[in-house]
Amino acid sequence: MSTKVLLATNNAKKLRELRRIVAEQGLDIEILSLRDVESYPEPAETEWSFEGNALIKARAGVAHTGLVTLADDSGLCVDALNQMPGVRSSRWAGPDHDDQANLDLVLRQIDDVDEPLRGARFVAVVALAAPDGREATTRGEMGGRLTNAPRGANGFGYDPIFLADDQTVAPGVQPLTTAEMSAEQKDAISHRGRALRAMIPELVKVLGLEVS
Ligand code: IMP
Repeated sequence: MSTKVLLATNNAKKLRELRRIVAEQGLDIEILSLRDVESYPEPAETEWSFEGNALIKARAGVAHTGLVTLADDSGLCVDALNQMPGVRSSRWAGPDHDDQANLDLVLRQIDDVDEPLRGARFVAVVALAAPDGREATTRGEMGGRLTNAPRGANGFGYDPIFLADDQTVAPGVQPLTTAEMSAEQKDAISHRGRALRAMIPELVKVLGLEVS
C-alpha cells in the first residue's frame, strides 16, 4: 500500500503539480489534498515570512490528520517596493479584493519606475511537518521583471505582468509573461516547482522510502 501524504491545499493545480513531481521520481506516495480528509479549521497566516506561514499550515495538517503534511506559501517580491507585497501578495489591495485589483495596484505603485529597475521575483516555500515532530522547509525562486501592462490569459495572480528571466528569447521577439506560457513551460521554471522538487529528498527521508 502506498504511503499517504497530505498537501494542505484546496488548489487543484498545486495538487496536480506535486503529483506530477512525485510520479517523475517514481515514488510510491499517494498525495491527498484538504478535500480528501475530514475538514478542519484552516489556521490564520500570521507570520511575516513565507517559511513561517508555510509551517503554520503544515503543522495544522499534521495535528488534525496525523499524516506527514506538506504546505506552501508564496508571493511576489518587487525590488522597487522593497520586496513587497511578499507574504501579503494575495491581499495586497485589501482583504476583499481579487487578483486583478492586486495586480493593478502593483502596476500603479511602480508606474514611475523604468527599466532596468523593474526587477521582481516569485518566491515559494514548501514546509513539511511529520507526526514525530520533524520539520523542514525548502525555498524556490523565479527571477524576472515586471511589464508596464498585463499580457496573457493563462496562470493566475500576477502572472500577466511577470517576465521570467529564465526563458530563451529570439532576437526581435518579445519575452513571454508567465500568463502567456503553457502550464508545462511555467512549471519547468516556477518557484513552486523548484521548492517542491527540493522537498522530495526530505520527504523520502522522513517517510523512510527507497527511490526506485
Ligand atoms: P498562495 O501562496 O497560494 O496563497 O499565493 C499567494 C499569492 O501570491 C497569490 O494569491 C498570488 O497573488 C501570488 N502568487 C504566488 N505564486 C504565483 C504565481 O505563480 N503566479 C502569479 N501569482 C502568484
